Amino acid sequence: MAHALPRPVPHRAHPRHRLAGRCVAGTDQPAAPIGADAVSRPSETFRPLLRVRELSVRFRTRGGRDIAAVSEVSFDLAAGECLALVGESGCGKSVLASALLGLLPANARTSGSALLHHPARDAAPGPAGQDRPLDLLAADEATLARTVRGRRVGLVPQSPAAHLTPVRTVGSQLAEIVRELKGLRGKELAEATLAAAARAAFPADHLDRCPHQLSGGLAQRAATALALVGDAPLLLADEPTTGLDRELVERTVDELRAHTDDGRGLLLITHDLPAAERVADRVAVMYAGRLVELAEAGPFFGAPGPRHPYADGLLAALPERDFVPVPGMPPELGDLPDGCAFAPRCARAGAECAQLPVPSDGVACHHPVTTGRSVSASGRREGSTA
Ligand code: SF4
Repeated sequence: MAHALPRPVPHRAHPRHRLAGRCVAGTDQPAAPIGADAVSRPSETFRPLLRVRELSVRFRTRGGRDIAAVSEVSFDLAAGECLALVGESGCGKSVLASALLGLLPANARTSGSALLHHPARDAAPGPAGQDRPLDLLAADEATLARTVRGRRVGLVPQSPAAHLTPVRTVGSQLAEIVRELKGLRGKELAEATLAAAARAAFPADHLDRCPHQLSGGLAQRAATALALVGDAPLLLADEPTTGLDRELVERTVDELRAHTDDGRGLLLITHDLPAAERVADRVAVMYAGRLVELAEAGPFFGAPGPRHPYADGLLAALPERDFVPVPGMPPELGDLPDGCAFAPRCARAGAECAQLPVPSDGVACHHPVTTGRSVSASGRREGSTA
């Protein structure tokens, strides 16, 4: 069992380093697009929490066009693990999270599966099938509303102000969630509400304010506090650091990371790569709706670095690295090419790239960055191609 973490304090050790040795592995994997060995890692101690296979989302527009927002995404999330899902805006990260919670608009169609497991019970399914994993993509709205959202899967939404009730104070909304999920009343409810606010660094003297009276950062903290109340086994955090200064970013992601104690899982959706580096066990990179790389966080952010040219470019764009943006723009999701969607922006593109790359060993690329790479003291990497 994972050991308890101390509450986040400024300038503490890297949380991921404190969590070395966590169980983040898997067995009995069906074939998966990004490479079965990279989707999860075999281990006798594997505790599955979420298994996503071939998840695709299509939006049918009023004009009859199909928008390929997410295509054949597969990954595992183990109990006690933080998986960071990164990529530029519009690459499908948030659509994927919405699909997992049944929050897509009516013109969306999903395929594939997303099995939500009971972390401690799946080894011995109950006679009535209560312990079997729930396919989130196949579950009906009543099941999702009554047993999944907030209870088995928490969500830190991307647009917190839009998710908060505009005419009620943050305190009343937080108290309602605490009362509903923890069954507390009176003095205990008041104390638990204050504790829930403090957990997300939401100031107690702002609990009597309505959402429109909050800054973006405070609204973000309010949404995070609401999401943490249920201590759900799986937490989806969609851009939870938006609007926060760096110290609060670190505090927030550390608190989210601490949530993975006792077998919980965290899917951190973010374009904040330093935040992902701080807390993630693994990194999944999306581009144009597809997973293009799935890697251990240490080698990904350190040496040898990412292997997919797009992921390599994302890191190189950071100010503390090369500060060179990825050239060009992401493709139109309603008009994707047959081959690699990154080709128009890729310096390594060749004739083979007119064909969709077959994923192998965690990367979907015909010419991945491979050997001889190193991270210099300045953060600049040197690489070669396969
Ligand atoms: S498949 Fe080709 S175009 Fe796509 S990222 Fe790899 S090298 Fe670049």
